[in-house]
Amino acid sequence: MSIAPVRLPSLFISHGSPMHAIQAGAAGEAWSALAERLGKPRAILMASAHWETNIPMVTGAAEPETIHDFGGFPDELYRIQYPAPGDPALAGQVQALLRKADMCAGIEPNRGLDHGAWSPLLHMYPDADVPVLQLAIQPDRGARHHLAMGRALTALRDEGVLIIGSGHMTHNLRDFFTQRGQSGVSAYAREFHDWVDQRIRANKADELVDWDVQAPSASRAHPTPEHFLPLFVALGAAGEYWETETVFAGFEGSSLAMDAYAFG
Ligand code: ZN
Repeated sequence: MSIAPVRLPSLFISHGSPMHAIQAGAAGEAWSALAERLGKPRAILMASAHWETNIPMVTGAAEPETIHDFGGFPDELYRIQYPAPGDPALAGQVQALLRKADMCAGIEPNRGLDHGAWSPLLHMYPDADVPVLQLAIQPDRGARHHLAMGRALTALRDEGVLIIGSGHMTHNLRDFFTQRGQSGVSAYAREFHDWVDQRIRANKADELVDWDVQAPSASRAHPTPEHFLPLFVALGAAGEYWETETVFAGFEGSSLAMDAYAFG
């Protein structure tokens, strides 16, 4: 008799810069401690901000390559490999679930893993022995679409699949670089963070989906939406009501919020 797997939480992780792959500090320690507590899932489905498509796509490669999708970083980062296997059968299941929810979803057979996926996973599952699939983000289709995508995939949490949205709580790189050395957290970043955090804790998906018009300083916190949308995949996968656990909270520099959550 097989033992039914425990229902896994869904996660949202602010993945930091590519440098977090090798220097993740306290955030990396929190990611690693969380993974230790969760144990090894059957597979990981990662909605990364760094894969943008027009329609929902999932990776179907059996042996996804490590993509170094950044420029101007130390050589050490380009030598990193994260040789986790894929899971083509699970990719088919993800596609079928999305189609069942009336989404035109496809499988990308050749794409590898970008740093939005492997940078946090290096800290969480350093042995790279858990199959990893990526799910693409559709930046033009807004929060409701990503919430629906997550909801369509909720059942996978009962089958040992760890669903992770990998993006950022705030992501204005121009501010991050120009405000280097500034002490304290920028008021706008704090204000945006608090608006989102309060609604996450209060299960207000209906308010969060209007974040781009309702949240204070939304366009400054996210000049483009791709790093925020993975949050909605994670919230969608959490179902209509969820318990929120803060896995990590803090700012990198004055404006880059590094929050990570588990929703169960
Ligand atoms: Zn990123």
